[in-house]
Amino acid sequence: MSDAAILTLNAGSSSVKFAVYAQGDGPALRASGQVENLSPTQQTRLIVERGGDKQVVGIEANDHAGALSAILGRADVLFGGSTVAGVGHRVVHGGTDFVAPTELTPEVIGKLRTLEPLAPLHQPHNLDCVEAAIAAFPDAVQIACFDTAFHRTHPFVNDTFALPRKWFDEGVRRYGFHGLSYEYIASEIARTEPDLARGRVVIAHLGNGASMCAVRDGLSVGSTMGFTALDGLPMGTRCGQIDPGVLLYMMQHHGMDADQIANLLYRESGLKGLSGLTHDMRTLEQSDDPHAREAIDYFVFRIRRELGGMSAVLGGLDALIFTGGIGENSARIRREVCAGMEWLGIAVDEDNNADNARDIGTGRVRVMVVPTNEELVMARAVGAALSGAH
Ligand code: ADP
Repeated sequence: MSDAAILTLNAGSSSVKFAVYAQGDGPALRASGQVENLSPTQQTRLIVERGGDKQVVGIEANDHAGALSAILGRADVLFGGSTVAGVGHRVVHGGTDFVAPTELTPEVIGKLRTLEPLAPLHQPHNLDCVEAAIAAFPDAVQIACFDTAFHRTHPFVNDTFALPRKWFDEGVRRYGFHGLSYEYIASEIARTEPDLARGRVVIAHLGNGASMCAVRDGLSVGSTMGFTALDGLPMGTRCGQIDPGVLLYMMQHHGMDADQIANLLYRESGLKGLSGLTHDMRTLEQSDDPHAREAIDYFVFRIRRELGGMSAVLGGLDALIFTGGIGENSARIRREVCAGMEWLGIAVDEDNNADNARDIGTGRVRVMVVPTNEELVMARAVGAALSGAH
């Protein structure tokens, strides 16, 4: 009798990222990978990484069910002889009802489908993948892990917009996202630095999607992201904070409709829009185009502005933690964010920063680089559900 495996799935519009863990006290990673270019017009690829070995193969798959079939096609490599006992799904939106990992029954899936208008670019793909996984692994426990859940401890003032109350009651609120990443960082700090975990911490998750979270006593009290994952910091292709009057202007004076504006704000803006070059930070850093410099300047400026605001909300700051692809790897962005921040107690050691060391601060405030691990948060949730079930 072989032991059980846990599969985690993170479905995007054209990709499915996955990780396989051995079930145990702390789930142990066995393999990971992704199906990418999941579209009829592109060559879809399956990437599998296991023990330092990486394999890339072309596959036939047009949808999430096809992606899972391809993953199952490598079952021998991924699962060995183990049974998949549980599947953890990243679900972007849990609304106000889902504040913890939840078993995906038909009733729960139905409720989550009603939230699709709140996250039209993510939620339908997440749920399509859930349905494909239930078909592929009918005997496994299926658990939804929500990107909004970590933020449900926000006070009212961080949850609302100044609109007539009926909109708040209808669900037009500042939900906040990247919750699995923030939960991982908070759990990691609680494990390694229990005193700091009781303090005032700002976490900057800087990747293609980017946001910041103010955490006090391990709980989220504020996020730069709001009703959708558009608000706050500029991102690879998303605009971040914008005056809503700009959208009215585009509608009234340029005749743009909702689809055109959505395309502009989600896919053509941010670093890509400002630089006119690319959404990719590493490429921008290597460019000597002045517009690349300005795009980076704006990204850094907004992070610094939010850091000041969050420090005020928290009543001071004990730690600033960088994570995400940019936060973990870009010494330049960290240096520029922290420059001249001595007034807040922030100073950075050049060498440690260049090495992406865990502690890069030299001032009163801890400045840390902590790699995120959203998959592990999902695997732990599935592990907890499985041990609760037996
Ligand atoms: P996602 O939000 O899609 O998960 P990631 O967290 O992987 O994205 O972050 C991707 C971003 O990280 C890209 O803009 C990429 O250029 C940037 N990045 C990765 N490594 C570096 C590096 N060494 N220097 C600067 N930017 C980097």
